[in-house]
Amino acid sequence: MKLFDVYPLYNVEPTKAEGCYVFDKEGKKYLDLYGGHAVISIGHSHPHYVKSLKDQLDKIGFYSNSIQNSLQLKLAESLGRISGCEDYQLFLCNSGAEANENALKVASFVTGKSKVIAFENGFHGRTSAAVAATHNPKIQAPINNQQEVVFLPLNDINKVKSELAKNETCAVIIEPIQGVGGLDMPEAKFIKEVESLCKQYDTMLILDEVQSGFGRSGKFFAHQYWDIKPDIISIAKGMGNGFPVGGILISDTIEASYGMLGTTFGGNHLACAATQAVLDVIEEEGLIENTNEMGAYLKEKLANISQIKQIKGSGLMLGLEFDFEIANLRRILIYDYQIFTGGSANKKLLRILPPLTITKKKIDLFVVALQKALITD
Ligand code: PLP
Repeated sequence: MKLFDVYPLYNVEPTKAEGCYVFDKEGKKYLDLYGGHAVISIGHSHPHYVKSLKDQLDKIGFYSNSIQNSLQLKLAESLGRISGCEDYQLFLCNSGAEANENALKVASFVTGKSKVIAFENGFHGRTSAAVAATHNPKIQAPINNQQEVVFLPLNDINKVKSELAKNETCAVIIEPIQGVGGLDMPEAKFIKEVESLCKQYDTMLILDEVQSGFGRSGKFFAHQYWDIKPDIISIAKGMGNGFPVGGILISDTIEASYGMLGTTFGGNHLACAATQAVLDVIEEEGLIENTNEMGAYLKEKLANISQIKQIKGSGLMLGLEFDFEIANLRRILIYDYQIFTGGSANKKLLRILPPLTITKKKIDLFVVALQKALITD
């Protein structure tokens, strides 16, 4: 059988990884400043993470959700405490798109409405409801898509207001920092007004923290830069450091009922062990502090590179904007300097999403390589 060919691939095959580095099958070492779309939060193969997964596998690898699993309770306690979201309820699933599907489902149940407001250049995943809320012409939506999604320009409060006033909208879904779309952010005043309009029109405010969450922005959740309290927060990616896991944090004002949501694999023992290990390391190694420090250091170093027109984003979720398309620059960085970086819907933006454990030395390596690569490009 051959693979269904939906991804253009770089000709590098990682066979081992450690910290900020991955190694290909010839043993060549690559500095990973992308982490498979912001997935690697605590570094590749972190010893505590590996041990937690191995220990759990020795006990029980998987059992489905109809039976008690105290790992979920411990995880909910740690996540609530470390994120500052103690007054939320946790539902676990397996990916970012699934998290958003469940968030939209809850919003529709609670409000009895079905329309969704999403934003231009937003990205929420590739399953039917999540992809419907994704504003990217290159991503195909299924033909029979029932959900009605209205795409509005980011930061246009009047458009949001007139749409919400129709009283048909169950949810506004928004990324605090657009990931795939190219690192644009809602303004503080805009998001605050969206929050109060949502309250006024009985609409759930969903913050998609799938990419920006778990410390990446320099706060545990990027929306914590603003004085808002979302009804639902979706999480995935850095949460599992490579183990597939996602979830939603649901406000305690929303009441659960049996059968409302469900999943076979969500919240399984291994996923809990992986997420718990990520939280342990974030806390014990002070990774949010490191994210702020290293993000600021990287920005300071990049300020000397004249070809960079703008630096977008926050913490270690950064986009370097050039006045040319960066596809070739990415290729040079991989093949000539062994550094992984990312692209986005904005073809002139180079995305930098390193492990939150990164050090100044590795940032220096990148900055020197980038300067050299810009001469070659
Ligand atoms: N939401 C955001 C903000 C994302 O960046 C992504 C993936 O890039 C998703 C949702 C979808 O996550 P997944 O690929 O795990 O389904």
